[in-house]
Amino acid sequence: MIVVKIGGSVGINYQNLVSDIANHNEKIVLIHGGSSQLNKLQEKLGNPVQTIVSPSGFVSRRTDAQTIEMFCMVYCGQMNKMLVTMLQKEGINAVGLSGVDGRLFEGKRRTAIRSVENGKTILIRDDLSGRVEKTNSQLIQLLLDNNYFPVITPPAISYENDIINTDGDVAAAQLAQDLIADTLVILSNTNGLLKDLNDPNSTIRNIPREELENFMQYAQGRMKKKVLGAQKALASGIKKVIFANANVDNPLTSALAGQGTVIE
Ligand code: ADP
Repeated sequence: MIVVKIGGSVGINYQNLVSDIANHNEKIVLIHGGSSQLNKLQEKLGNPVQTIVSPSGFVSRRTDAQTIEMFCMVYCGQMNKMLVTMLQKEGINAVGLSGVDGRLFEGKRRTAIRSVENGKTILIRDDLSGRVEKTNSQLIQLLLDNNYFPVITPPAISYENDIINTDGDVAAAQLAQDLIADTLVILSNTNGLLKDLNDPNSTIRNIPREELENFMQYAQGRMKKKVLGAQKALASGIKKVIFANANVDNPLTSALAGQGTVIE
């Protein structure tokens, strides 16, 4: 079984992946993002994106009550149904679900977030975000056993039943673990993990799992979470994690053939 995560950054071509999925007979679970579309909608609806910068430098989206509504519109509505329809056009019986449905992605809401603003650290208490700690892999197994193709999106649900914004890469890694998938493929808009972000040809090709820590230094910003997710998945039994480019012909086939960063 393969768990595939496709990001939501600017310029991701979803058709490449959808067409390629039809070439694979193995069981696949797809998880997707939607960040750039959400940025656009927030602007349009007069709720411009605000970011939280943690004291250790992690950047995340400020998710207040209004933002989580827009998050659901874009991720569960626009993006999820777009991908389900695209897969249906290829004859694949896709079923779209969010992490809230059947408690697919469950985790702890962050009730106090430290944010650095103008050099000062403040505490945010009303953010609707958190980290996935559990998945309902049985629900996904049920769909797979009946030949449905699951297409899953954040948000997640908290233990107290709030809808929470959550990192899709970490959620995908947790689901891959719980499904005991063989491979986790993380597709984004770069050629895998780059040694130099400005040089698309600087892909780090192979990383032995025990050396992953040494490569953490190359991951900046959002890429850090992807590497952390990979580390966690490998530690709990996933055989291989691949970071690869979504914007090539047959991105899944080429990722599985080693085009990207292969960690095993
Ligand atoms: P997605 O929406 O696809 O999950 P993100 O925007 O969250 O993607 O993360 C991918 C981004 O991480 C890339 O577009 C790139 O700007 C950034 N990044 C930071 N460091 C690296 C690196 N070493 N190699 C590749 N990408 C990196």
